[in-house]
Amino acid sequence: MEARTSRDSESGEKPDSVSSLKKNKKGIEIEGYPVEGLSIGGQETCVIFPTLKIAFDIGRCPQRAISQDFLFISHGHMDHIGGLPMYVATRGLFSMKPPTIFVPVAIKEDVQRLFEVHRAMDQSELKHNLIGLNVGEEFRLRKDLTVRAFRTYHGIPSQGYIIYSVRQKLKQEYIGLAGNEIKNLKLSGVEITYTVTSPEVAFTGDTMSDFIVDSDNIDVLRARILVMESTFVDNSMTVENARDYGHTHLSEIINYADRKFKELYLRCLHHWQVEFLHLQKVSDELGDDVNYSMNLVFEVLHI
Ligand SMILES: [Zn+2]
Ligand SMILES: [Zn+2]
Repeated sequence: MEARTSRDSESGEKPDSVSSLKKNKKGIEIEGYPVEGLSIGGQETCVIFPTLKIAFDIGRCPQRAISQDFLFISHGHMDHIGGLPMYVATRGLFSMKPPTIFVPVAIKEDVQRLFEVHRAMDQSELKHNLIGLNVGEEFRLRKDLTVRAFRTYHGIPSQGYIIYSVRQKLKQEYIGLAGNEIKNLKLSGVEITYTVTSPEVAFTGDTMSDFIVDSDNIDVLRARILVMESTFVDNSMTVENARDYGHTHLSEIINYADRKFKELYLRCLHHWQVEFLHLQKVSDELGDDVNYSMNLVFEVLHI
C-alpha cells in the first residue's frame, strides 16, 4: 500500500478528497504538488507542475508554462504542440536558460524542421535541447528525478511520461550506526546506500483507455498522481465514439477503477474547463476486491 501524504499522516486523519486536494489561487495542490494548467478539448492542453519545473504539452503556450525548464510533448496534434516555437522564443527573449524538450522519436525530425523554418524566418537562435524518447526509454532530469516514456493509444505517434523520484536510502545493515561510523564506511568506499525510485507523476496526453491494461504501464497506475484525459464524460458520446477519435470516455475509467487504481486524479474536459475528478478508494487496505467511491472534485484551473 502506498504511503499517505505527509499532510495526512501528520494530522492523523483519514485522507479524503478535501485533505489530499487543496485549492490555491492559481490551481490546485494534489499529493503535495501544486498543479496548474488548462485543457480545452481540441484547442489547448498544457498541465504544469511548477515545483518540478515541468510542463506536459504546451497548448498555445500559456504564460505560466514559460518558466518551466522541462517540457514533455505527448503527440503532434496542434492543441498539444502548437505553442512550442513561442515557448522557446519567449524563454530566449527573457534570457532564460534553453529549455529541454522531450518528444516522441517519431516526430523529432519534424520538430527540428519546424524550428529551422522559424529560424529562417526570424533569424533568431531559438536555443533549446530537443530529446527524442522512445517508449520505455528513461532520461535523468536531475539528480533526484528521472522520466520514462510509456505507450499510449491515439492514432498518431503518441506517448505519455512518468516522472520518478530517485532517492538514496541507507542499507538496512547500517541503520542505527553513529554518524561518524557511517561517514568512515563511506570514506572507505563501502556502498552504504541503495537507490529507491518511485513513480510520482504520470501524464498520458490524448489516448484510448487501452493504456490502462497495457502490462508495461504498471507504473503509470502506481504513480501518486495520474493526469489523464477523459474527453467525453456524458452520454452525448458513446465509448465507441470516443474510441473512433482515439480518446477515453469517463465510463471506461470508472469500469477499470475497481481493479486498477488506488487513488486517481483525472483531467477531464467538460464545458470548456479543466476539471479534476478524484476517485478514491474507500477501504483502508488495498486489495483486489476493494470498492471505490467516486468523489467528484471539480476544480477549475486558471492560468
Ligand atoms: Zn487533444
Ligand atoms: Zn490528440
